Amino acid sequence: MFADLLDIVIPHTCVACKTPISSYNSGICTSCCTKLQVLCRGQDLELRKRLTTKAHLFDGGLALLYFEQNGVSQRLIHHIKYHHGKDLAITWGKFLGNVLVAAQMEMEIDFNNCVLIPIPMHRKKRRKRGYNPPLYIARGIQEVLGLRSSIEPDILVRTKHLKSQTSADFHLRFERLVNSFQLQNEIPIQGSIILIDDVITSTSTLQHCAQVLRKSYTLKIYAVALAFSA
Ligand SMILES: [Zn+2]
Repeated sequence: MFADLLDIVIPHTCVACKTPISSYNSGICTSCCTKLQVLCRGQDLELRKRLTTKAHLFDGGLALLYFEQNGVSQRLIHHIKYHHGKDLAITWGKFLGNVLVAAQMEMEIDFNNCVLIPIPMHRKKRRKRGYNPPLYIARGIQEVLGLRSSIEPDILVRTKHLKSQTSADFHLRFERLVNSFQLQNEIPIQGSIILIDDVITSTSTLQHCAQVLRKSYTLKIYAVALAFSA
């Protein structure tokens, strides 16, 4: 009731086109929703290729949406990342969790005692931004998986702070990220490991994280994100 009252007092607007919406739930209006390009069952050939360039790092991966420059998906992700979109990160994390559950058989994911690891943010960046979006996406996924999964944000730590490097090519990005992540807390894990990011671009960040985890774990490692920039 309180939420309904808030909706009347402060009407919500679509994060993509700014038109008023009656229910904030997904953060976007029906019209913008139809413009979203969704990956078929979370899969894409190019995504698979990028995740498997280095052998034995990932056992699979998926994303929910295609990341489109100036499109609805970019505005949604931008809102989640830069405008304290914690609630939206959780909501869209739930959508991602459902796609993950649907892919369980095909990808042979072991959800029992599986561990969700949000890609860590450097503490300086987290202080500036206020929160780490992948952690909240993980919370949404966990709402779907339930207690058989746990979120472990402290297994990995980001020790190197880099400026945004969206324009750098893959090899440059990859080189710059060397030694950026460390294993901080080695805990026993029995199920699969699911690394969570907001957007998968070159996969260099995910690969560095997986490399660090591979030194201690022989379990299956998956990479999932809300969007994939093809
Ligand atoms: Zn809209």
